[in-house]
Amino acid sequence: MKDNRKYLKSSDIATLFCSCLMILSGCASNNVPMPEIVYSPGSATELILPKSAKPKQSRDYSYTNSPGVWYPPSDLEKKWTAIIIHHSATESGNAEIFDKWHKENNHWDGVGYDFVIGNGTDSGDGQVEVTFRWKKQIPGAHCGGTSGNWANEDGIGICLVGDFSQTAPTERQMQSLVKLIRFLQQQYEIPKSRIYGHRTTPGARVTECPGDNFPMSRLKSMLD
Ligand SMILES: [Zn+2]
Repeated sequence: MKDNRKYLKSSDIATLFCSCLMILSGCASNNVPMPEIVYSPGSATELILPKSAKPKQSRDYSYTNSPGVWYPPSDLEKKWTAIIIHHSATESGNAEIFDKWHKENNHWDGVGYDFVIGNGTDSGDGQVEVTFRWKKQIPGAHCGGTSGNWANEDGIGICLVGDFSQTAPTERQMQSLVKLIRFLQQQYEIPKSRIYGHRTTPGARVTECPGDNFPMSRLKSMLD
């Protein structure tokens, strides 16, 4: 009996999973193209939620900020040695939008960053999105975009949505950034001295990124 129950349970899960895939692939027939990459944690909870039960505006995805989903697959894990912080230089956006942009305009494989932290426009305020680069542990395209650039090879690229030449990051973005950086520092023993804004990254091209209003010294004071 026990075995039977187990069998039924897993087949139920499989059915649910299939239905979910069908719902998801249904999206592809709308005008919005199906993204090739599944962003963000794809937790079991998220997968089995019926589409209708999901909030229409993705404003509160705080559960995605659990460090548990930030671990890379252990068999692919790379030794990262630095963290590079960027702004998107746009008022709005999210990982999917930047992915499309980077593919179409820069002809990259997809979004250049490892993580994107939303500002409440196209993703939650402070929501951390994990991109395909991090999930596959492949070099970024966030610092110069040239192949062989050390910062792309060895640095983790975090982008905060916003134009910090005009405005400042939201408080929630800063809280999530600190949480994410603390996690990465512990995971890879990255010292504070190896956390850079894009424009102060050794070897980086001339850029305003992450903008004059990005509070770098405040950030450093919040870290060990
Ligand atoms: Zn940048």
